[in-house]
Amino acid sequence: MKLQFSEKDEAFRAEIAGWLKDNLTGEFAQLKFRGGPGDEHMFPEERKRWEQKLAEGRWTCVGWPEQYGGRGLSIEQQVIFYEEYARAGAPGRMGHIGDGLAGPTIIAFGSEEQKAKYLPGILAGTEFWCQGYSEPGAGSDLANVKTKARFDEASGKWIINGQKVWTSLAHESEYCFVVARTDPDSVAHKGLGFFLVKMDQPGVTVRPIEQITGTSEFNEVFFDDAECDAGDIVGEPGDGWKVAMGLLGFERGVSTLGQQMAFQNELDEVVKLARENGAAEDPQIRQRLAQAHIGLKLMRYNSMRMLSGDKGDGSLQKEALIYKLYWASWHRDLGELAVDIMGPEANILPEAPYELNRLQSLFLFTRSDTIYGGTNQIQRNIIAERGLGMPKEPKW
Ligand SMILES: Cc1cc2nc3c(=O)[nH]c(=O)nc-3n(C[C@H](O)[C@H](O)[C@H](O)COP(=O)(O)OP(=O)(O)OC[C@H]3O[C@@H](n4cnc5c(N)ncnc54)[C@H](O)[C@@H]3O)c2cc1C
Repeated sequence: MKLQFSEKDEAFRAEIAGWLKDNLTGEFAQLKFRGGPGDEHMFPEERKRWEQKLAEGRWTCVGWPEQYGGRGLSIEQQVIFYEEYARAGAPGRMGHIGDGLAGPTIIAFGSEEQKAKYLPGILAGTEFWCQGYSEPGAGSDLANVKTKARFDEASGKWIINGQKVWTSLAHESEYCFVVARTDPDSVAHKGLGFFLVKMDQPGVTVRPIEQITGTSEFNEVFFDDAECDAGDIVGEPGDGWKVAMGLLGFERGVSTLGQQMAFQNELDEVVKLARENGAAEDPQIRQRLAQAHIGLKLMRYNSMRMLSGDKGDGSLQKEALIYKLYWASWHRDLGELAVDIMGPEANILPEAPYELNRLQSLFLFTRSDTIYGGTNQIQRNIIAERGLGMPKEPKW
């Protein structure tokens, strides 16, 4: 197992760190450490301009192949990119769903027309995407989606009806990728389609959901005879499950590996507060801080272990399957530790609106870490079935 990056990779690290130092200034300086999970509602317009700044430097979509405008970076370099991005305190990416999910999916499964139509806006940081998977009755059980797509011969368009929920950043997005049933009589993962749907049209209504943090980063999205061009289904009708699962592979993949640097920033803040308010004198708190530190190191070396198996085809070792479960649980524990260190200062008003400090916000948002992108329980199923080869969960 390798424990260090190569000289070439370290030179790349210096390049991205230097660019961020030179460019995260002026109007963008206020965005430092803003816009991350729990803070995604902040500075949307400024963060969209930051996306365009990144694009000027060719720092959007760095993992995409060069032929599609990316940098074609190796997995190692992508991890370095995300590490340095977080270390510099660069803002939460408004474009992360397009860059990390929609784009790679269109590249892998889309038609040439779809690539030409959608990739340039993502690359340029001018068009933003949201993810229309979850529904009131279909979260972990994604194959249970009820939203329907019917092809209308007269208009030559797909007509979409149904409801999505928890759609992050839908209110800031130009497009949504929607999993919908193309065969109304189908069940489970059969008869689905994967659609690229324009948000700004009469048939789409976005209703914000107020979160425990008092903010609204995600939404309910209603499709009432929303239209989608015939050419905007990815793959064939009925192929939707394959495309949707391909996308989840990107979601749980490489972009999450670099987030340890952001976690380090948070842990540093927690340690600083513990020193300042005297909590660090409590041996139990000290022990938990040490455990948090060890957990972060474990994450780091596990990443290196996964990268050691890079087969050059962009795929990670099987160990990658443990990653989501590990970081989500670690982060939840850090949120609880932050609250214990804050003591009475952690209390909030019984109802919104309230001003949260960063650690209160961290604690409240980490309640969702073990849910989104696949719950802890689902991650355990994945580890058991795909990683350890155990028998599949019975389905009734
Ligand atoms: C902050 C946040 C942002 C999100 N953003 C988006 C987004 O942009 N787009 C989108 O489409 N979705 C989004 N989601 C939704 C997210 O993907 C779902 O919440 C998640 O998949 C869980 O589904 P559910 O909420 O329906 O819970 P359920 O699936 O109803 O699960 C409830 C409980 O049952 C357990 N459970 C369910 N099935 C099993 C099983 N087979 N074995 C063992 N335990 C099981 C779960 O682990 C959980 O504890 C977001 C969620 C959050 C919290």
